[in-house]
Amino acid sequence: MNDRMRGLPLPGSAAEFVASVVRPEVRAQKAYVVAPAAGLIKLEANENPWALPDAVKARLATALAQVPLNRYPEGGSDALRATLRRALAIPDALGLIVGNGSDELIQLVVSALARPGATVLAPEPTFVMYRANALNAGMRFVGVALRPDFTLDRTTMLEAIQRERPAVIFLASPNNPTGMCYPAADIEALIRATSGLVVVDEAYAPFADESLLKRVSEFPNLLLMGTLSKIGMAGIRLGYAAAAPEWIDELNKVRPPYNVNSLTQTAVGALLADTGWIAQQAAAIRSERQRLAVALAQLPAVIVFPSQANFLLVRVGSADRVFDGLKARRILVKNLAGGHPLLANCLRITVGTPEENDLLLAAMNELCP
Ligand code: PMP
Repeated sequence: MNDRMRGLPLPGSAAEFVASVVRPEVRAQKAYVVAPAAGLIKLEANENPWALPDAVKARLATALAQVPLNRYPEGGSDALRATLRRALAIPDALGLIVGNGSDELIQLVVSALARPGATVLAPEPTFVMYRANALNAGMRFVGVALRPDFTLDRTTMLEAIQRERPAVIFLASPNNPTGMCYPAADIEALIRATSGLVVVDEAYAPFADESLLKRVSEFPNLLLMGTLSKIGMAGIRLGYAAAAPEWIDELNKVRPPYNVNSLTQTAVGALLADTGWIAQQAAAIRSERQRLAVALAQLPAVIVFPSQANFLLVRVGSADRVFDGLKARRILVKNLAGGHPLLANCLRITVGTPEENDLLLAAMNELCP
């Protein structure tokens, strides 16, 4: 009889077990930290600052009350996907998969393509979960630096594609945290140059002038991702990906059954029964973005980068000092300093309501005169 069978304690501490069993690339990472924001003006997470309109809330309440929570959700989210296709004009020729946020879809793409030695490539700085998911799946991650003004260097990217032969390239457009779109001609050149998959992540496209959605079926190796998170529905966790049906068939094999819960599936039907409120809120965010950008650019100590997203990237004299000063005034933004060498002294400020933006501007006037 061994110790375990006798019920005796196992030799060694949990830390020793973890060190010998968990992969080093996982242990080397830090878990994604969500900053506590209770009582603060929340301008750090690229959320939509407005609540749902009352009529939408009422529709949602009625629909959610009917959800049979004793049953598993509908496995393929069929009704939800039909609603999304209609509301977002996703072409019929494309396959469509939904996930628990686009975060989950990034994970699914990476896990379908992970094999020893395979590479994930992305311009950097960008959304940190591309790197984290690549490492978690045991893949290599190669970041290719954007230019110091955060534009894409097409030549460097093409050289990296030749050299690294990536299995997948992630292009967030508009990019987080820079706010800029990559020119369609550059994206197209990368799609044509790679023998891997290109994921264009359009999480912020509702605030941009352009989208590749209508063109996805032109490319056999393009997958387009989107999310409801930035347009007022971050709490329901719903992301989607559209691509040639052959890609979606494979992603469905790595997707957990019931990955989108039944409250979310039903909520989407009620939320997207009309989309006028979404367009209205997105238009208000765009116009406030413009007002904020102009006002911040007038401060001599602040550089504002052009943004097509619902946030602004700014460079200040000392990101740490301004971040702390804003926090002392109960305003939470994202301090990007330390995240990437190009982001020295950079803050990311989500566009808030007009009142929130006024408070931010007043604080920035004091902190960056
Ligand atoms: N892609 C990009 C570029 C993002 O910035 C984010 C959110 N920070 C996501 C994907 C994930 O969004 P969600 O999981 O909420 O759909």
